Amino acid sequence: MYVSTRGAQSRLSAASAIKLGMAADGGLLVPNAIPQIDMSDIKSLASLGYQERAQIVLRKYLPDYSDKEIAGAISKAYNHAKFDHAAIAPLVAVSDELSVLELWHGPTSAFKDMALQLLPQLLTLALQKTSEQAEIVILVATSGDTGKAALEGFRNVAQTKIIVFYPLAGVSEIQRLQMVTQEGSNTAVVAVEGNFDDAQTGVKQIFNDGEFNAHLRSHNFELSSANSINWGRLVPQIVYYFSAYADLLKAGKITAGQLVNFVVPTGNFGNILAGYYAKLMGLPINKLICASNANNVLTDFLQTGIYDRRRPFQKTLSPSMDILISSNLERWLYHASGSDNEKVRLWMNELQLTGRYEVDSQVLFALKQTFWAASASDDDTLAAIKKVYSEHGYVADPHTAVAWHVYQQYLQDTGDRTPAIIVSTASPFKFNDSVLAAISGQKVIAEVDEFAALTKLSQLTGWDIPVNLATLADKPIRHKAVCANEQMPNVVDQILKI
Ligand SMILES: *Cc1c(COP(=O)(O)O)cnc(C)c1O
Repeated sequence: MYVSTRGAQSRLSAASAIKLGMAADGGLLVPNAIPQIDMSDIKSLASLGYQERAQIVLRKYLPDYSDKEIAGAISKAYNHAKFDHAAIAPLVAVSDELSVLELWHGPTSAFKDMALQLLPQLLTLALQKTSEQAEIVILVATSGDTGKAALEGFRNVAQTKIIVFYPLAGVSEIQRLQMVTQEGSNTAVVAVEGNFDDAQTGVKQIFNDGEFNAHLRSHNFELSSANSINWGRLVPQIVYYFSAYADLLKAGKITAGQLVNFVVPTGNFGNILAGYYAKLMGLPINKLICASNANNVLTDFLQTGIYDRRRPFQKTLSPSMDILISSNLERWLYHASGSDNEKVRLWMNELQLTGRYEVDSQVLFALKQTFWAASASDDDTLAAIKKVYSEHGYVADPHTAVAWHVYQQYLQDTGDRTPAIIVSTASPFKFNDSVLAAISGQKVIAEVDEFAALTKLSQLTGWDIPVNLATLADKPIRHKAVCANEQMPNVVDQILKI
Protein backbone atom coordinates (compact mmCIF):
# COMPACT_ATOMS: atom_id res chain seq x y z
CA MET A 1 0.00 0.00 0.00
CA TYR A 2 1.05 3.62 -0.55
CA VAL A 3 0.97 6.40 2.04
CA SER A 4 1.78 10.11 2.02
CA THR A 5 5.09 11.45 3.34
CA ARG A 6 2.98 14.02 5.23
CA GLY A 7 0.66 11.51 6.83
CA ALA A 8 -2.76 12.92 6.00
CA GLN A 9 -3.91 10.67 3.19
CA SER A 10 -5.60 7.30 3.47
CA ARG A 11 -3.72 4.27 2.17
CA LEU A 12 -3.83 3.76 -1.58
CA SER A 13 -3.29 0.84 -3.92
CA ALA A 14 -0.43 1.10 -6.42
CA ALA A 15 -2.97 1.77 -9.20
CA SER A 16 -4.54 4.67 -7.27
CA ALA A 17 -1.12 6.07 -6.35
CA ILE A 18 -0.07 6.06 -10.00
CA LYS A 19 -3.35 7.59 -11.15
CA LEU A 20 -3.24 10.37 -8.55
CA GLY A 21 0.47 11.18 -8.95
CA MET A 22 0.58 13.15 -5.70
CA ALA A 23 -1.02 12.86 -2.27
CA ALA A 24 -3.98 15.12 -1.47
CA ASP A 25 -2.12 16.58 1.56
CA GLY A 26 0.67 17.94 -0.66
CA GLY A 27 3.06 15.11 0.18
CA LEU A 28 4.52 12.42 -2.03
CA LEU A 29 3.29 8.84 -2.15
CA VAL A 30 5.66 6.18 -0.81
CA PRO A 31 5.38 2.43 -0.19
CA ASN A 32 4.50 1.75 3.47
CA ALA A 33 6.88 -1.22 3.55
CA ILE A 34 9.95 -1.87 1.42
CA PRO A 35 9.88 -5.24 -0.36
CA GLN A 36 13.06 -7.33 -0.17
CA ILE A 37 15.02 -9.25 -2.77
CA ASP A 38 17.40 -11.87 -1.44
CA MET A 39 20.83 -12.67 -2.82
CA SER A 40 19.77 -15.85 -4.59
CA ASP A 41 17.17 -13.86 -6.54
CA ILE A 42 19.74 -11.19 -7.34
CA LYS A 43 22.12 -13.89 -8.59
CA SER A 44 19.41 -15.34 -10.79
CA LEU A 45 18.99 -11.96 -12.52
CA ALA A 46 22.40 -12.38 -14.14
CA SER A 47 21.16 -14.87 -16.71
CA LEU A 48 18.01 -12.87 -17.56
CA GLY A 49 17.29 -10.11 -20.06
CA TYR A 50 16.17 -6.60 -19.08
CA GLN A 51 12.45 -7.35 -19.47
CA GLU A 52 12.62 -10.35 -17.13
CA ARG A 53 14.70 -8.44 -14.62
CA ALA A 54 12.10 -5.66 -14.69
CA GLN A 55 9.31 -8.16 -14.08
CA ILE A 56 10.97 -9.48 -10.90
CA VAL A 57 11.57 -6.03 -9.42
CA LEU A 58 8.34 -4.33 -10.49
CA ARG A 59 5.92 -7.01 -9.30
CA LYS A 60 7.10 -6.39 -5.74
CA TYR A 61 5.75 -2.84 -5.88
CA LEU A 62 2.58 -3.51 -7.88
CA PRO A 63 0.66 -6.17 -5.92
CA ASP A 64 -2.66 -5.10 -7.46
CA TYR A 65 -1.32 -5.66 -11.00
CA SER A 66 -1.29 -9.23 -12.35
CA ASP A 67 1.95 -10.77 -13.62
CA LYS A 68 0.44 -10.81 -17.07
CA GLU A 69 -0.42 -7.11 -16.90
CA ILE A 70 3.09 -6.23 -15.74
CA ALA A 71 4.66 -8.37 -18.47
CA GLY A 72 2.47 -6.69 -21.09
CA ALA A 73 3.40 -3.23 -19.87
CA ILE A 74 7.11 -4.11 -19.86
CA SER A 75 7.07 -5.54 -23.37
CA LYS A 76 5.37 -2.41 -24.71
CA ALA A 77 7.88 -0.16 -22.94
CA TYR A 78 11.26 -1.86 -23.32
CA ASN A 79 11.37 -3.42 -26.77
CA HIS A 80 13.74 -3.30 -29.70
CA ALA A 81 11.53 -1.11 -31.82
CA LYS A 82 11.98 1.60 -29.20
CA PHE A 83 15.47 0.98 -27.83
CA ASP A 84 18.52 0.85 -30.09
CA HIS A 85 20.50 -1.53 -27.86
CA ALA A 86 19.69 -5.19 -27.27
CA ALA A 87 20.46 -4.85 -23.53
CA ILE A 88 18.06 -1.82 -23.17
CA ALA A 89 20.29 -0.38 -20.39
CA PRO A 90 23.78 -1.71 -21.23
CA LEU A 91 26.66 -1.66 -18.76
CA VAL A 92 29.90 -0.66 -20.49
CA ALA A 93 33.18 -1.47 -18.75
CA VAL A 94 35.83 1.25 -18.91
CA SER A 95 38.31 -0.37 -16.53
CA ASP A 96 38.39 -3.23 -14.03
CA GLU A 97 36.76 -1.14 -11.33
CA LEU A 98 34.67 1.30 -13.34
CA SER A 99 31.65 0.83 -15.62
CA VAL A 100 29.11 3.13 -17.23
CA LEU A 101 25.39 2.35 -17.13
CA GLU A 102 23.94 3.82 -20.34
CA LEU A 103 20.33 4.86 -19.84
CA TRP A 104 19.89 6.73 -23.13
CA HIS A 105 19.17 4.07 -25.75
CA GLY A 106 15.44 4.86 -25.78
CA PRO A 107 13.39 6.82 -28.32
CA THR A 108 14.49 10.32 -27.21
CA SER A 109 18.14 9.60 -26.28
CA ALA A 110 17.79 10.70 -22.63
CA PHE A 111 17.30 8.66 -19.46
CA LYS A 112 13.76 10.01 -18.97
CA ASP A 113 12.69 7.31 -21.46
CA MET A 114 13.44 4.58 -18.90
CA ALA A 115 10.54 5.86 -16.80
CA LEU A 116 8.33 7.56 -19.37
CA GLN A 117 8.07 4.50 -21.61
CA LEU A 118 6.60 2.48 -18.75
CA LEU A 119 4.52 5.10 -16.89
CA PRO A 120 1.80 5.37 -19.62
CA GLN A 121 1.40 1.58 -19.60
CA LEU A 122 1.07 1.50 -15.80
CA LEU A 123 -1.35 4.45 -15.91
CA THR A 124 -3.56 2.85 -18.56
CA LEU A 125 -3.85 -0.27 -16.41
CA ALA A 126 -4.54 1.93 -13.37
CA LEU A 127 -7.45 3.58 -15.21
CA GLN A 128 -8.95 0.17 -15.94
CA LYS A 129 -8.45 -1.03 -12.38
CA THR A 130 -10.08 2.02 -10.85
CA SER A 131 -12.90 2.06 -13.45
CA GLU A 132 -11.94 5.59 -14.43
CA GLN A 133 -14.26 6.84 -17.15
CA ALA A 134 -12.68 10.23 -17.81
CA GLU A 135 -10.10 10.90 -20.47
CA ILE A 136 -6.78 11.77 -18.82
CA VAL A 137 -5.03 14.94 -19.97
CA ILE A 138 -1.33 14.96 -19.17
CA LEU A 139 0.01 18.50 -18.85
CA VAL A 140 3.77 19.00 -18.95
CA ALA A 141 5.97 22.08 -18.69
CA THR A 142 9.41 21.17 -19.92
CA SER A 143 12.88 22.64 -20.04
CA GLY A 144 13.75 20.12 -22.75
CA ASP A 145 14.14 16.40 -22.06
CA THR A 146 10.99 15.55 -20.12
CA GLY A 147 8.58 16.98 -22.69
CA LYS A 148 9.85 14.90 -25.57
CA ALA A 149 10.14 11.72 -23.50
CA ALA A 150 6.58 12.18 -22.19
CA LEU A 151 5.25 12.81 -25.72
CA GLU A 152 6.86 9.63 -27.01
CA GLY A 153 5.63 7.65 -24.01
CA PHE A 154 2.00 8.80 -24.26
CA ARG A 155 1.82 8.89 -28.07
CA ASN A 156 -1.39 7.10 -29.16
CA VAL A 157 -2.01 5.69 -25.67
CA ALA A 158 -5.78 5.12 -25.35
CA GLN A 159 -7.84 7.32 -22.99
CA THR A 160 -5.04 9.91 -22.75
CA LYS A 161 -4.11 13.20 -24.33
CA ILE A 162 -0.81 14.95 -23.74
CA ILE A 163 -0.12 18.68 -23.97
CA VAL A 164 3.45 19.91 -23.62
CA PHE A 165 4.36 23.56 -23.03
CA TYR A 166 7.97 24.57 -23.68
CA PRO A 167 9.60 27.99 -23.29
CA LEU A 168 10.03 29.79 -26.60
CA ALA A 169 13.35 31.08 -25.29
CA GLY A 170 15.00 28.25 -23.48
CA VAL A 171 15.31 24.90 -25.23
CA SER A 172 18.06 23.85 -27.61
CA GLU A 173 17.28 23.69 -31.34
CA ILE A 174 17.53 19.88 -31.26
CA GLN A 175 15.16 19.71 -28.29
CA ARG A 176 12.70 22.08 -30.03
CA LEU A 177 12.74 20.08 -33.26
CA GLN A 178 12.30 16.82 -31.34
CA MET A 179 9.07 18.23 -29.88
CA VAL A 180 7.54 20.17 -32.80
CA THR A 181 7.89 17.17 -35.13
CA GLN A 182 6.08 14.89 -32.65
CA GLU A 183 3.70 12.36 -34.21
CA GLY A 184 0.60 10.81 -32.64
CA SER A 185 -3.10 11.68 -32.74
CA ASN A 186 -3.30 12.59 -29.03
CA THR A 187 -0.25 14.89 -28.80
CA ALA A 188 -0.04 18.69 -28.70
CA VAL A 189 3.02 20.92 -28.30
CA VAL A 190 2.82 24.66 -27.59
CA ALA A 191 5.57 27.25 -27.22
CA VAL A 192 5.06 29.70 -24.36
CA GLU A 193 6.44 33.22 -24.68
CA GLY A 194 9.06 33.54 -21.95
CA ASN A 195 11.34 31.20 -20.06
CA PHE A 196 10.83 27.84 -18.32
CA ASP A 197 9.46 29.48 -15.17
CA ASP A 198 6.69 31.14 -17.21
CA ALA A 199 5.68 27.80 -18.73
CA GLN A 200 5.94 26.00 -15.39
CA THR A 201 3.95 28.67 -13.53
CA GLY A 202 1.24 28.52 -16.19
CA VAL A 203 0.91 24.75 -15.84
CA LYS A 204 0.86 24.92 -12.03
CA GLN A 205 -1.89 27.56 -12.19
CA ILE A 206 -4.00 25.28 -14.36
CA PHE A 207 -3.54 22.39 -11.92
CA ASN A 208 -4.54 24.59 -8.96
CA ASP A 209 -7.49 26.30 -10.65
CA GLY A 210 -10.51 24.51 -9.14
CA GLU A 211 -13.00 26.18 -11.43
CA PHE A 212 -11.07 25.27 -14.55
CA ASN A 213 -10.68 21.68 -13.35
CA ALA A 214 -14.44 21.45 -12.75
CA HIS A 215 -15.01 22.83 -16.24
CA LEU A 216 -12.74 20.12 -17.68
CA ARG A 217 -14.46 17.44 -15.60
CA SER A 218 -17.83 18.50 -16.96
CA HIS A 219 -16.44 17.58 -20.38
CA ASN A 220 -15.11 14.27 -19.03
CA PHE A 221 -11.46 15.31 -18.86
CA GLU A 222 -9.23 14.78 -15.81
CA LEU A 223 -5.79 16.41 -15.49
CA SER A 224 -2.71 14.45 -14.56
CA SER A 225 1.04 15.00 -14.51
CA ALA A 226 3.99 13.05 -15.84
CA ASN A 227 6.67 14.65 -13.71
CA SER A 228 9.02 12.80 -11.47
CA ILE A 229 7.02 13.03 -8.27
CA ASN A 230 4.64 10.37 -9.64
CA TRP A 231 5.48 6.96 -8.12
CA GLY A 232 4.87 5.47 -11.56
CA ARG A 233 7.91 7.36 -12.80
CA LEU A 234 10.12 6.35 -9.92
CA VAL A 235 9.46 2.62 -9.74
CA PRO A 236 10.76 1.81 -13.26
CA GLN A 237 14.06 3.41 -12.28
CA ILE A 238 14.72 0.95 -9.46
CA VAL A 239 15.08 -1.82 -12.03
CA TYR A 240 18.27 -0.64 -13.70
CA TYR A 241 20.23 -0.59 -10.43
CA PHE A 242 19.55 -4.32 -10.09
CA SER A 243 20.23 -4.83 -13.78
CA ALA A 244 23.64 -3.13 -13.56
CA TYR A 245 24.60 -5.26 -10.56
CA ALA A 246 23.47 -8.40 -12.38
CA ASP A 247 25.63 -7.43 -15.36
CA LEU A 248 28.70 -7.05 -13.13
CA LEU A 249 28.00 -10.52 -11.69
CA LYS A 250 27.55 -11.93 -15.17
CA ALA A 251 30.86 -10.42 -16.33
CA GLY A 252 32.61 -11.94 -13.30
CA LYS A 253 33.71 -8.47 -12.12
CA ILE A 254 32.16 -8.98 -8.69
CA THR A 255 30.99 -11.91 -6.59
CA ALA A 256 27.47 -12.17 -5.17
CA GLY A 257 27.10 -9.94 -2.15
CA GLN A 258 30.07 -7.71 -2.97
CA LEU A 259 29.42 -4.00 -2.47
CA VAL A 260 29.40 -1.49 -5.34
CA ASN A 261 29.16 2.31 -5.60
CA PHE A 262 26.86 4.21 -7.96
CA VAL A 263 27.63 7.74 -9.13
CA VAL A 264 24.48 9.60 -10.17
CA PRO A 265 24.17 12.98 -11.93
CA THR A 266 21.36 14.51 -9.92
CA GLY A 267 18.68 17.20 -10.30
CA ASN A 268 15.29 16.39 -8.86
CA PHE A 269 16.72 13.48 -6.80
CA GLY A 270 14.54 10.92 -8.64
CA ASN A 271 17.25 8.79 -10.19
CA ILE A 272 19.44 8.54 -7.09
CA LEU A 273 16.38 7.91 -4.90
CA ALA A 274 15.58 4.87 -7.04
CA GLY A 275 19.10 3.67 -6.16
CA TYR A 276 18.29 4.21 -2.48
CA TYR A 277 15.17 2.03 -2.81
CA ALA A 278 17.33 -0.66 -4.46
CA LYS A 279 19.70 -0.48 -1.47
CA LEU A 280 16.81 -0.72 1.00
CA MET A 281 15.53 -3.76 -0.89
CA GLY A 282 18.82 -5.55 -0.36
CA LEU A 283 21.05 -4.63 -3.29
CA PRO A 284 24.64 -4.44 -1.93
CA ILE A 285 25.32 -0.73 -2.44
CA ASN A 286 28.12 0.90 -0.45
CA LYS A 287 27.74 4.58 -1.38
CA LEU A 288 25.37 6.49 -3.62
CA ILE A 289 27.53 9.33 -4.90
CA CYS A 290 25.43 12.39 -5.65
CA ALA A 291 26.88 14.57 -8.41
CA SER A 292 25.62 18.12 -8.91
CA ASN A 293 26.55 20.98 -11.23
CA ALA A 294 26.97 24.61 -10.08
CA ASN A 295 23.43 24.44 -8.65
CA ASN A 296 24.98 22.56 -5.74
CA VAL A 297 22.22 22.81 -3.15
CA LEU A 298 22.29 19.02 -2.67
CA THR A 299 26.06 18.92 -2.22
CA ASP A 300 25.76 21.36 0.65
CA PHE A 301 22.80 19.52 2.12
CA LEU A 302 24.43 16.11 2.06
CA GLN A 303 27.56 17.57 3.68
CA THR A 304 25.93 19.76 6.34
CA GLY A 305 22.29 18.74 6.78
CA ILE A 306 21.20 22.27 5.84
CA TYR A 307 19.02 22.60 2.74
CA ASP A 308 19.18 26.20 1.54
CA ARG A 309 17.71 27.09 -1.80
CA ARG A 310 18.31 30.82 -1.31
CA ARG A 311 20.98 31.15 -3.96
CA PRO A 312 21.02 32.30 -7.58
CA PHE A 313 19.82 29.84 -10.18
CA GLN A 314 22.70 29.07 -12.55
CA LYS A 315 22.36 28.11 -16.19
CA THR A 316 24.95 25.40 -16.87
CA LEU A 317 26.13 23.05 -19.61
CA SER A 318 24.14 20.26 -17.89
CA PRO A 319 20.70 21.97 -18.06
CA SER A 320 18.64 18.95 -17.00
CA MET A 321 20.25 19.29 -13.56
CA ASP A 322 19.65 23.04 -13.22
CA ILE A 323 17.29 22.81 -10.28
CA LEU A 324 17.18 24.24 -6.76
CA ILE A 325 14.25 22.34 -5.28
CA SER A 326 14.81 18.60 -5.47
CA SER A 327 11.26 17.38 -4.86
CA ASN A 328 12.06 13.70 -4.41
CA LEU A 329 14.31 14.39 -1.44
CA GLU A 330 11.09 14.48 0.59
CA ARG A 331 10.70 10.73 0.08
CA TRP A 332 14.21 10.08 1.38
CA LEU A 333 13.60 12.27 4.44
CA TYR A 334 10.48 10.28 5.20
CA HIS A 335 12.27 6.92 5.14
CA ALA A 336 15.43 8.19 6.88
CA SER A 337 13.50 9.74 9.74
CA GLY A 338 11.72 6.45 10.44
CA SER A 339 8.46 7.42 8.65
CA ASP A 340 8.15 10.55 10.81
CA ASN A 341 5.62 12.53 8.79
CA GLU A 342 5.42 15.21 11.46
CA LYS A 343 9.08 16.08 10.91
CA VAL A 344 8.76 15.91 7.12
CA ARG A 345 5.82 18.31 7.22
CA LEU A 346 7.78 20.79 9.36
CA TRP A 347 10.84 20.72 7.10
CA MET A 348 8.77 21.12 3.94
CA ASN A 349 6.80 24.00 5.47
CA GLU A 350 10.03 25.70 6.46
CA LEU A 351 11.38 25.25 2.96
CA GLN A 352 8.31 26.86 1.51
CA LEU A 353 8.22 29.73 3.98
CA THR A 354 11.92 30.53 4.37
CA GLY A 355 13.71 28.66 1.57
CA ARG A 356 15.72 26.71 4.15
CA TYR A 357 15.53 23.83 6.65
CA GLU A 358 17.99 21.89 8.78
CA VAL A 359 17.68 18.20 9.64
CA ASP A 360 18.59 16.76 13.04
CA SER A 361 21.86 14.98 13.77
CA GLN A 362 20.33 11.51 13.44
CA VAL A 363 19.14 12.22 9.91
CA LEU A 364 22.46 13.87 9.04
CA PHE A 365 24.24 10.72 10.21
CA ALA A 366 21.97 8.61 7.99
CA LEU A 367 22.65 10.95 5.06
CA LYS A 368 26.40 10.51 5.43
CA GLN A 369 26.09 6.74 5.79
CA THR A 370 24.30 6.47 2.46
CA PHE A 371 25.49 9.34 0.31
CA TRP A 372 28.64 11.15 -0.65
CA ALA A 373 28.30 14.38 -2.60
CA ALA A 374 30.30 16.89 -4.62
CA SER A 375 29.75 19.21 -7.56
CA ALA A 376 31.36 20.14 -10.86
CA SER A 377 31.64 23.55 -12.52
CA ASP A 378 31.19 23.96 -16.29
CA ASP A 379 34.98 24.04 -16.69
CA ASP A 380 35.27 20.80 -14.67
CA THR A 381 32.57 19.31 -16.91
CA LEU A 382 34.35 20.19 -20.16
CA ALA A 383 37.68 18.98 -18.76
CA ALA A 384 36.07 15.68 -17.74
CA ILE A 385 34.59 15.13 -21.22
CA LYS A 386 38.03 15.69 -22.74
CA LYS A 387 39.87 13.50 -20.22
CA VAL A 388 37.40 10.62 -20.41
CA TYR A 389 37.59 10.70 -24.20
CA SER A 390 41.37 10.76 -24.35
CA GLU A 391 41.88 8.16 -21.61
CA HIS A 392 39.06 5.72 -22.36
CA GLY A 393 37.78 6.66 -25.84
CA TYR A 394 34.41 7.16 -24.16
CA VAL A 395 32.17 10.03 -25.29
CA ALA A 396 30.33 11.39 -22.24
CA ASP A 397 27.53 13.95 -22.39
CA PRO A 398 27.84 16.91 -19.96
CA HIS A 399 25.54 15.34 -17.31
CA THR A 400 27.54 12.11 -17.33
CA ALA A 401 30.74 14.17 -17.24
CA VAL A 402 29.58 15.90 -14.04
CA ALA A 403 29.30 12.45 -12.47
CA TRP A 404 32.71 11.45 -13.77
CA HIS A 405 34.36 14.53 -12.29
CA VAL A 406 32.68 13.96 -8.93
CA TYR A 407 33.80 10.32 -8.94
CA GLN A 408 37.44 11.46 -9.40
CA GLN A 409 36.99 13.71 -6.37
CA TYR A 410 35.52 10.81 -4.42
CA LEU A 411 38.55 8.62 -5.22
CA GLN A 412 40.97 11.37 -4.17
CA ASP A 413 39.09 12.07 -0.97
CA THR A 414 38.37 8.54 0.20
CA GLY A 415 40.72 6.21 -1.68
CA ASP A 416 37.76 3.82 -1.81
CA ARG A 417 38.35 1.34 -4.65
CA THR A 418 34.95 -0.36 -4.39
CA PRO A 419 33.79 -1.22 -7.95
CA ALA A 420 31.86 1.78 -9.24
CA ILE A 421 29.15 2.41 -11.80
CA ILE A 422 28.70 5.84 -13.36
CA VAL A 423 25.08 6.38 -14.35
CA SER A 424 25.02 7.97 -17.82
CA THR A 425 21.84 9.96 -18.44
CA ALA A 426 22.00 11.36 -21.97
CA SER A 427 23.48 10.55 -25.35
CA PRO A 428 26.42 12.88 -26.12
CA PHE A 429 24.69 13.74 -29.40
CA LYS A 430 21.90 15.48 -27.50
CA PHE A 431 24.40 18.04 -26.22
CA ASN A 432 26.70 18.02 -29.20
CA ASP A 433 28.02 21.62 -28.95
CA SER A 434 29.45 21.14 -25.47
CA VAL A 435 30.85 17.72 -26.31
CA LEU A 436 32.43 18.90 -29.57
CA ALA A 437 33.87 21.97 -27.88
CA ALA A 438 35.35 19.87 -25.08
CA ILE A 439 36.85 17.20 -27.30
CA SER A 440 38.26 19.65 -29.83
CA GLY A 441 39.51 21.91 -27.02
CA GLN A 442 37.67 25.00 -28.29
CA LYS A 443 35.43 27.10 -26.08
CA VAL A 444 32.64 27.42 -28.65
CA ILE A 445 31.94 25.84 -31.99
CA ALA A 446 30.29 28.86 -33.58
CA GLU A 447 30.56 27.96 -37.23
CA VAL A 448 28.50 24.76 -37.37
CA ASP A 449 24.71 24.38 -37.00
CA GLU A 450 23.10 21.67 -34.88
CA PHE A 451 22.87 19.12 -37.67
CA ALA A 452 26.37 19.71 -38.98
CA ALA A 453 27.52 19.30 -35.37
CA LEU A 454 25.88 15.85 -35.16
CA THR A 455 27.78 14.71 -38.23
CA LYS A 456 31.02 16.29 -37.06
CA LEU A 457 30.82 14.61 -33.66
CA SER A 458 30.10 11.27 -35.29
CA GLN A 459 33.03 11.62 -37.70
CA LEU A 460 35.38 12.69 -34.95
CA THR A 461 34.49 9.89 -32.50
CA GLY A 462 33.29 7.08 -34.75
CA TRP A 463 30.09 6.85 -32.66
CA ASP A 464 26.76 6.48 -34.50
CA ILE A 465 24.20 9.26 -34.36
CA PRO A 466 21.00 7.91 -32.69
CA VAL A 467 18.37 7.34 -35.39
CA ASN A 468 15.80 9.65 -33.77
CA LEU A 469 18.27 12.55 -34.00
CA ALA A 470 19.67 11.64 -37.43
CA THR A 471 16.19 11.71 -39.01
CA LEU A 472 15.06 14.91 -37.28
CA ALA A 473 16.04 17.29 -40.08
CA ASP A 474 13.69 15.55 -42.55
CA LYS A 475 10.60 15.39 -40.35
CA PRO A 476 7.73 17.79 -41.02
CA ILE A 477 6.91 20.39 -38.35
CA ARG A 478 3.50 19.44 -36.95
CA HIS A 479 3.13 21.79 -33.97
CA LYS A 480 3.36 25.55 -34.55
CA ALA A 481 1.26 27.06 -31.77
CA VAL A 482 2.72 29.87 -29.67
CA CYS A 483 0.92 31.52 -26.77
CA ALA A 484 1.39 33.90 -23.87
CA ASN A 485 1.45 32.48 -20.37
CA GLU A 486 -2.04 33.78 -19.47
CA GLN A 487 -3.57 32.20 -22.59
CA MET A 488 -2.60 28.67 -21.57
CA PRO A 489 -6.04 27.63 -20.23
CA ASN A 490 -7.67 28.82 -23.47
CA VAL A 491 -5.13 26.84 -25.45
CA VAL A 492 -6.00 23.73 -23.43
CA ASP A 493 -9.69 24.30 -24.26
CA GLN A 494 -8.90 24.69 -27.94
CA ILE A 495 -6.81 21.53 -28.02
CA LEU A 496 -9.53 19.55 -26.23
CA LYS A 497 -12.14 21.16 -28.51
CA ILE A 498 -14.32 22.42 -25.66
C1 LIG B 1 16.45 14.63 -15.64
C2 LIG B 1 17.91 14.43 -15.90
C3 LIG B 1 18.86 14.33 -14.85
C4 LIG B 1 18.47 14.47 -13.38
O1 LIG B 1 17.75 13.38 -12.90
P1 LIG B 1 16.91 13.50 -11.53
O2 LIG B 1 16.13 12.25 -11.45
O3 LIG B 1 16.02 14.72 -11.73
O4 LIG B 1 17.87 13.70 -10.43
C5 LIG B 1 20.18 14.10 -15.18
N1 LIG B 1 20.58 14.02 -16.47
C6 LIG B 1 19.72 14.13 -17.50
C7 LIG B 1 20.23 14.05 -18.90
C8 LIG B 1 18.35 14.33 -17.26
O5 LIG B 1 17.50 14.44 -18.31
